[in-house]
Amino acid sequence: MESQIQKIHNQLVAKEFTCTELVKEKLALLKENKYNSVNTVLEDLALEAAAKVDAKISKGEEIGLLEGIPFGIKDVYMVQGTYTSASSDLLKKYKSAYTATAIQKLLDAGAIPMAKENCDSFGHGSSSENTVFGSVKNAIDTSLVAGGSSGGSAVNVAADYTVFSIGGDTGGSIRQPAGYNKIYGLKPTYGRVSRYGLMAYASSTDTVGPLAKSIEDVAIVMNVMSGKDPKDQTTILSEEIKQNIVASKPEGIKVGYFKNFIENDAIDPKIKADFIATIEKVKAAGYEVQELDFFNADTLVSTYYTLAMAETASNLSRLDGTNYGNRIEDKNLKETYMVTRSENFTEETKRRIVGGNQVLSQGFSDAIYLKGQELRNEIEAAFEADFNKVDIILSPVTPGPVPKIGEVLSNPHAMYLSDAYTVGFSLGQLPTLTCPFGTETGIQVTGAKNKEQTILQFANFLNQVK
Ligand code: GLN
Repeated sequence: MESQIQKIHNQLVAKEFTCTELVKEKLALLKENKYNSVNTVLEDLALEAAAKVDAKISKGEEIGLLEGIPFGIKDVYMVQGTYTSASSDLLKKYKSAYTATAIQKLLDAGAIPMAKENCDSFGHGSSSENTVFGSVKNAIDTSLVAGGSSGGSAVNVAADYTVFSIGGDTGGSIRQPAGYNKIYGLKPTYGRVSRYGLMAYASSTDTVGPLAKSIEDVAIVMNVMSGKDPKDQTTILSEEIKQNIVASKPEGIKVGYFKNFIENDAIDPKIKADFIATIEKVKAAGYEVQELDFFNADTLVSTYYTLAMAETASNLSRLDGTNYGNRIEDKNLKETYMVTRSENFTEETKRRIVGGNQVLSQGFSDAIYLKGQELRNEIEAAFEADFNKVDIILSPVTPGPVPKIGEVLSNPHAMYLSDAYTVGFSLGQLPTLTCPFGTETGIQVTGAKNKEQTILQFANFLNQVK
C-alpha cells in the first residue's frame, strides 16, 4: 500500500478537507469503536492540535509531512495530563506528569494524538485480553483476538481509526498484533528510540516502534522518533532511513532462516507451507538462501520469560500505592501494600511478579536468573555469527494461527509458547519488522543491529514478489 501519511498530507495541502474535519471523522470512529481498542479518546488535545494545523494551512504556510496526521498511542506512554493506565486497575485514574520523548517528538512534528490505546496490562500478554478495559477484538474477524500486547494500536491502524500508532515491543508486542491484523509493525534496534516515558516492563528488551499500513510510513515515523536522548542512557545514534534506498531493489543480500523454527511439531502446517513458499519466491528472485541452526523455541521462550519476569517484578515493585495509583488502605502499611497490589494487578501480572521474585530470590537466583543471563549471551553470540553469514533472517511471526477470543486466557503456558518466534530477536536487541503477508500471521524480516534500512528495503522487495 502507498504511504497513507503522504496521501493525507497532499490532501490537507490541496485543501480537500481540513485537519479538523479529518480529526472529527476519526474521533467519531474511535468513540463508536467496534473493537474495544481504546482506553481514552484524546478529543480536546486532538482538536486543539488540528486547529493549529488548519490555521497554518489557511495562512498559506508550509506544513511538515507529519503535521495534521492522526496517530494512536499505546496506553503505556506518558502524555502529560492524560490518563496512562497500562490497562490496569492500579493506574486507571493515574494522569501523566510529563510526556514520553518519542511521543513528544511526534507532537513537535505536528502529528495529532487521538487516543490512548487498549493493550495487555503492563505489556503482559499476547492477545490484549489481559486488560481491565475488556478484550480487544481483531480488526479483520471480531471473533478472534487482536494479538498483544499492543492489540489496540494494531486494530486502530487496521481499521483506519488512526493513520499510525505507537506500540511497545518487549517480546513481540508490536510484531505479533501487526501480523494478526495484517499491517506492518517494526520493533527497532534496542536503544534507537528513547524509552523515557514508556512504562517499563522488561527494561533490557523494551522498545518503542510504529504500526502502520505501509513501509514508507514506518520509515517516516522512525526517522522522527529515533535519536539519542539524555533522559535514556541506553539510546544510540542512528542514521536516517532513506526512502529512495528502501524503494530500490536490494542487491547482494544473503538471506537465512532458522531450520528448527520450521521443522518442528509446534508449527501449524499451513503456516509452514506458506513460509516455505515465500522462501522459494526469494530463491526464484535470485537471492542466496541459507538454512541456519538456532536455539529451539522452548529455550528461547524460557530464557525470555525468566528474564522478563525478573525485570518486571523489579520494575513494578514501585507500584505499591505510595506514589502512584489506586491505594487501598488497610490495618497497617504492610497490609496496605498487600491489598493495594493484590486487588489492583491482574492475574497474569501477579503471575509474573511472583515468578520474577522467585527467579531473583536468594538461593535461586544463581540457578535461574544467572542461567538466563548466560543463555542470553549465547543467543546474542549466535546472532552475531549468523549475521556474519547472512544479511536478513526471515521467519514466521507465530507458530500458530490467530486464536479465538477466550482461548488464550485459559492457558498461559500455551500463550508463552506462542511467542516462540518473536522473543529471540528481542533478547538479541535486533531490529525486526512484521510484514502483513507470507503467512496467515505475517512474516518477520530481521537484520543485524541498526540495519533498519536494509530490513525495510528487503520488505519492500518481498511486498512486490509476494
Ligand atoms: N507476549 C510477550 C509477553 O507477554 C511479549 C509482550 C510484549 O512485547 N510487551 O511478555
